[in-house]
Amino acid sequence: MAPNGAIGRSLWDQFPRNRYIQRLLQLCKRMQVCLDRSEVYRQWLYHPTQRTIYVWEPDLKSESLSFLVVIIAHELGHALDFDTHPELIDQTRERRWWEMPLEIEAAAFVNGFRLLKDLHIPFSLDHYIEMIDESIAVTVRDTIEREHLCCLLSKRRLSDALTCVS
Ligand SMILES: [Zn+2]
Repeated sequence: MAPNGAIGRSLWDQFPRNRYIQRLLQLCKRMQVCLDRSEVYRQWLYHPTQRTIYVWEPDLKSESLSFLVVIIAHELGHALDFDTHPELIDQTRERRWWEMPLEIEAAAFVNGFRLLKDLHIPFSLDHYIEMIDESIAVTVRDTIEREHLCCLLSKRRLSDALTCVS
């Protein structure tokens, strides 16, 4: 990681100075997830063994804050998923790592929404679902409504658990 340190740091600085974006980036650091530039056109990616979010840098200037909030939360959702279920790393190893199965994509969106709530980032479930590809939006909504609404209302903070991840 050291040789990329300087590049990584400058990439951190490219993100908008928005408090919610910065809150998500702080969580990145707490989870010891690095950032690097994506070379896959218009794709953001999380690489589990490198613990790196690959950022499509032009989006930092051209996309809305809502888009950036959702995509960072989604990539951190992948990190949380792989940390919680390390067996998934083996299951996805045979695939090219930007071609994740739909259930893994859905799980990352579910986790991402939980992270937004945990970080007190105001984002309605309706707005969140609108920003997700139709192919998995229904699954994501159903899972959140079925399994996580009670968690979202509880006092337990997910980030308390995350600080132990390293
Ligand atoms: Zn994903």
